[in-house]
Amino acid sequence: MKFEATIGLEIHAELATKTKTFCSCKNEFGAKPNTNVCPVCLGLYGALPRLNKKAVELAVKAGLCFESKINKLAYFERKNYFYPDLSKGYQISQLKMPFCVGGFVELDSGKKVHLNRIQLEEDAGKLLHISKTVGTKVDYNRGGTPLIEIVTEPELCCADEAVEFVQKVREILVFAGIAHCKMEQGGLRADVNVSIRPVGAQEFGTKVEMKNINSFRAIKRAIDFEIARQTEILQSGKLVEQETRKWDDVKCKSFAMRNKENSKDYRYFEDPDIMRVRLDETDISRFKAELPMLAKERRQMYEQKFGLSHYEAERLTSSVETANFFEECEQILHSPKKLASWIIVGLFSMLVEGQTLQELISPQHLCELENLVQDGKITKNVADTLLKKVVEQKQSPTSIAQKESLLGGVSKEQIANILKEFAQENPKAVQDFWANPDKVILFVVGYVKKKTQGKADTELVKVLAKQILNKK
Ligand code: ADP
Ligand code: MG
Ligand code: ZN
Repeated sequence: MKFEATIGLEIHAELATKTKTFCSCKNEFGAKPNTNVCPVCLGLYGALPRLNKKAVELAVKAGLCFESKINKLAYFERKNYFYPDLSKGYQISQLKMPFCVGGFVELDSGKKVHLNRIQLEEDAGKLLHISKTVGTKVDYNRGGTPLIEIVTEPELCCADEAVEFVQKVREILVFAGIAHCKMEQGGLRADVNVSIRPVGAQEFGTKVEMKNINSFRAIKRAIDFEIARQTEILQSGKLVEQETRKWDDVKCKSFAMRNKENSKDYRYFEDPDIMRVRLDETDISRFKAELPMLAKERRQMYEQKFGLSHYEAERLTSSVETANFFEECEQILHSPKKLASWIIVGLFSMLVEGQTLQELISPQHLCELENLVQDGKITKNVADTLLKKVVEQKQSPTSIAQKESLLGGVSKEQIANILKEFAQENPKAVQDFWANPDKVILFVVGYVKKKTQGKADTELVKVLAKQILNKK
């Protein structure tokens, strides 16, 4: 029998707020354990939460990005359960009245993947498994930091679609300034629900959930593994059990955790300490107006307004920092094509993992460099060398060029004269050149470079050599 898969995702993204959801502790990654904590986020008796407006704003903005319906009245509920990383004994979340309902993400194929809801909730702390002898410790810094949970309808049908979906969600959240989505820091995690059913069946199959998967590769592998596992079960005439399984990306396998029978009853109820949130049209239109241009619109602008290729537009929007850098340069120097080439051909290869273009060079310096070329003060060759020096020394291209006397390009006439000199001094080489230009050209270029202290442009020398040496 043939089976088809159904996948639904619950994506958790840490919001880019300065402080936590219900207290003024810092929302930051990597601080010394248990330093960003207070009675509210630890859940000490009598401490009273106060809602962070910024977290609400970002959750609603997420809904606006995905064209969700925004609930004008929303409230928070307590989700009660026991776990050592949850010092309060409950998580503040939303169930019946989340901020956003519905919405969708469009895949490249044109398929719309619908959202069920987007809710605001707080994160739990983190268990640190130190070693066998020391045991496990808990860091509560992350406890109480704001998350949005984006829940999809069960509409994805394979691992690649799921990965594309998460990539699109991530890009939108990052470009909108809603979340940084640093996956290696757990800033974006996905719970993956997978079921299979015979092709054409009306009802969905029994789903299995795998929680907290935090890389694209792991999402893909977990789904592929689970589809294969469930297919094998059904083909052998057995039934898939509804359960939560743990995905182990090192072993590349999923393991049973708990099944439906002992699944938890969270005893949800509205949190009596937090006021309901009422939003009006003015709030919502203000949020809408504040949304920056997203990656898709920026790619469109690059192609239509700046005349860049689709490839260039894609590369320049590969991160929000890159897009910002490019646009800042474009505002200084209206040469988008040239700038795109400087960034894609020149700068990208110099970036190390996690580095941004801004850290390599300032937009001012890059534009100054291109200006030197456009004004004929240096050749493109010299500019390439100069770019590396600017990145190393973090000084202006003009001052480096002055210091190293690179200024003053070599004109066509000068090169032509040098080539004539070359011909007189090396009649044999010229004859060889007629027979096989490629063999001699490097020799010619080397000669001209030497005479010009490396300032002559290689391409120009090649072109002129073919004209001048061939004539003789
Ligand atoms: P639960 O009540 O178990 O949390 P929900 O209906 O809230 O289930 O759905 C949780 C997630 O599981 C959603 O992302 C949804 O799309 C997905 N889902 C629901 N049913 C299935 C199914 N049969 N197969 C795959 N995914 C499913
Ligand atoms: Mg659920
Ligand atoms: Zn706190």
